[in-house]
Amino acid sequence: MLRIAEKIKRLGTETAFAVSAEAAAFAAKGNKVYPFHIGDLNFSTPSTVVNGTIKAIHDGKTGYCPTAGIPQLREAIADDINAARGTNYTMENVAVQPGGKPTIGKFILALLNPGDEALYPNPGYPIYESQIEFNGAVAVPYTFVEGEKNFVFEINSIKEKITPRTKIIILNDLQNPSGAEFSRKDLEELAALAIEHNLIILSDEAYFDIRYEGKSLSIASIPGMEERTVILYSFSKRFAMTGWRLGATIGPKEIIEVITKLNVNDESCSNHFIQYGAIEGLRGDQTEVKNILTVLKQRRNAAVDILNSIQGITCFNPNATFYLFPNVTSLFTRKGYIGYDSFRKDILNNTGVSFCTRIHFGRPFPGEKNYYIRIAYSGINLNELTEGLNKFKDYIHSLNDEKIHKRILTTSLLN
Ligand code: PLP
Repeated sequence: MLRIAEKIKRLGTETAFAVSAEAAAFAAKGNKVYPFHIGDLNFSTPSTVVNGTIKAIHDGKTGYCPTAGIPQLREAIADDINAARGTNYTMENVAVQPGGKPTIGKFILALLNPGDEALYPNPGYPIYESQIEFNGAVAVPYTFVEGEKNFVFEINSIKEKITPRTKIIILNDLQNPSGAEFSRKDLEELAALAIEHNLIILSDEAYFDIRYEGKSLSIASIPGMEERTVILYSFSKRFAMTGWRLGATIGPKEIIEVITKLNVNDESCSNHFIQYGAIEGLRGDQTEVKNILTVLKQRRNAAVDILNSIQGITCFNPNATFYLFPNVTSLFTRKGYIGYDSFRKDILNNTGVSFCTRIHFGRPFPGEKNYYIRIAYSGINLNELTEGLNKFKDYIHSLNDEKIHKRILTTSLLN
């Protein structure tokens, strides 16, 4: 018998991948699928990045390179961060990574001892909880509530959970899945708490540049925070580079040195030639990058309008990220749905519209009253988006008492 290590039982996953697999299986049977479940982009990577990378391959940049990344890219990332966030980083504060995600596990490995407590957002990106628990630390969730215009963060929900064992807070401002955004006041209050309790912040800024109006703000720019913040930086979303795998960890030199040591032990170095392409992406012409945002904004506007016209759904219109997190509670009650999975599968089977739900972003809190789904509009063109969401709407509006009764019976047999 193969015996897998005990600690693997503590490792979580992204259950959203199971939704992708179900959608693919449904499509393989000849059905049309409208993909709203994945946070991937159906845009070409800007030609600046592509050409820079191809040139680097021709120039022979195909061997190992420095573990923390090539100096020119570390410098370009520090410049980019400083320009957008008003910080004072140098290349010594930057460790290049194969994607944004590796920063999460490496940060936790570098900072937490078994039994330490880590605050993290729930609903939120599921890898936080997975990595905290895998490393023997205690995952303590905090949450968001609906404000007037968007989800808002309540500082008291964090304050009351800080104990003498709390070491870190994971912050994902411009949040996946909710699109929640913190105000400057929220960030200042959070910074004051971090300083008072000597906490380190992991600021997941994967969506910092996916913004349609206003200006993104980083907690690292608040006085006293540069020395206690580690930024997760990613090329994935801003440059439509999810499959290229390039990102970086930015933070105090002592932490970057540890993270670089973890790089040596894990991947040796990030892909060499892509780093040259990334420099061109950061320093070169930004027309194609801006165009991605223009198209995403059109999709957001269309999706929000249709979702809000569906009986029983209310949806905010967030200024950042490419996610929507509509509240479907009243649809559940009025149309007799009995659980997240039966709802999701019913909509997929009857309309082809595929999405994730709240349960793909952490365990619901006991007694949680509201139901939410997550709509990602980054991987579907405007026409398809409109067609799919209108099918969803027509289906919901067509449900009468008789159909509902029949469907509840069928779905309860299935679940
Ligand atoms: N953080 C958040 C909140 C995300 O949603 C994602 C990807 O979806 C990541 C980090 C990691 O992205 P990547 O590893 O592609 O940079």
